Amino acid sequence: MSDESTAAGSPGECHRRGCDDPAQFVVLERYQEETGKGAVEAEAALCPTHTDEESPANLDGAYDDYVFRVEPISGE
Ligand SMILES: [Zn+2]
Repeated sequence: MSDESTAAGSPGECHRRGCDDPAQFVVLERYQEETGKGAVEAEAALCPTHTDEESPANLDGAYDDYVFRVEPISGE
């Protein structure tokens, strides 16, 4: 989860490049920067297919408050 591009499609779409499916989950990972500058939160709205592919990517930065969480987006 190092994709920090803001060029994702309109809100509500999967954050993955080239995927137009509606986002149904938010994947959140909170970890400690290696530099010790503090916690970083990486959040991405994804379709079910890409949510399924997600996994903790920053275990090197795990600390007491480390979080890897998948939350359903409550519908509109
Ligand atoms: Zn997708």
